[in-house]
Amino acid sequence: IFNFCAGPAMLPQAVMQKAQKELLDWNGQGVSVMEVSHRSKEFIALTEQAESDLRQLMSIPSNYHVLFMHGGGRGQFSAVVNNFLGNDGKALYLVDGSWSQAAVEEAITLAGENNVDTLNIVDLVDGVKQVCLPDLSVIDKDYRYVHYCPNETVDGIEIFENLNSPWPVVADMSSNILSRNIDVSQFGLIYAGAQKNIGPSGLSIVIVRDDLLALPSLPQSSIMDYRLAVKNDSMYNTPPTFAWYLAAEVFSWLKASGGVTQMEQANIKKAQRLYQCIDELDFYVSGVAKQNRSRMNVTFQLANEGLDGLFLEQAKAAGLVALKGHRSVGGMRASLYNAMPIEGVDALVSFMKQFAAENS
Ligand code: PLP
Repeated sequence: IFNFCAGPAMLPQAVMQKAQKELLDWNGQGVSVMEVSHRSKEFIALTEQAESDLRQLMSIPSNYHVLFMHGGGRGQFSAVVNNFLGNDGKALYLVDGSWSQAAVEEAITLAGENNVDTLNIVDLVDGVKQVCLPDLSVIDKDYRYVHYCPNETVDGIEIFENLNSPWPVVADMSSNILSRNIDVSQFGLIYAGAQKNIGPSGLSIVIVRDDLLALPSLPQSSIMDYRLAVKNDSMYNTPPTFAWYLAAEVFSWLKASGGVTQMEQANIKKAQRLYQCIDELDFYVSGVAKQNRSRMNVTFQLANEGLDGLFLEQAKAAGLVALKGHRSVGGMRASLYNAMPIEGVDALVSFMKQFAAENS
């Protein structure tokens, strides 16, 4: 089976096999990792290794904290606002798809319409969606941060350039973290729900520059307070220990597989093969401009929508599962996270060619 689900998504086979093997006996202790104290020296060693591996994988500078928090991606929609806006702060939200739109809505709910400015950065150019990044340096306003989503999971839109911003950049990297090299120093805060490139859902990774912690915060739930999380090594309350363990295993697998540079090369190749198939056959249509096509979430339509059901049914029978596009946009979506081997993409491409030939 090749699982193209957008999230929770497939995890590396080797990690899942190791986890299965040690499920009932972790670290020679005779009990599962789910059954040991998060404050035990063995578990603390695991968390230290996980942080150190992630720092190495992403070259995270020493003035950034790495936090392992609850609440997935959406948890951070509110945490960012509550931690950084205080009573009088304003933020700018760039909108390039469904998730950045959802982040704005949460920000407005918490901080009020007057404190949240929104800028749509996607246009339809020649019938396809294209990102037009604004020059933020000419905007004469004082924002605490600018928020954007460099990979829109639902829409299949990815932004590869960095923002040129006079304010700290907050990025929702839930669906493209660890998929390509980025320069962390260009960001004030990066967050990611874990369930795509990292591990089980519910966990979120936050990478935050130290000076941002001095921004005024709003009264908020203690478990979402970045300062408390830093002070308590992400253990203010009991953390999601199994998710943390699996994330640690994924980081270790990534390192052994050649790190982010190797993943990036593989991800470019995988995405190119699939987009090439879509572009070659009139049977399939991409609605995203070439320069903004996501490497992680390849969205496409069948020119004849009436065949969607048959496509999904036959794909499933061929072992290619979870290809249905998000309910808000329809069509198809193949998510090609780090764990998807090139063989999965080749199998999908063969299937798509055969399906097109049989149904044209
Ligand atoms: N941001 C992005 C880019 C996502 O893809 C998702 C979920 O798929 C989320 C946020 C929300 O994550 P969660 O469901 O963990 O709250």
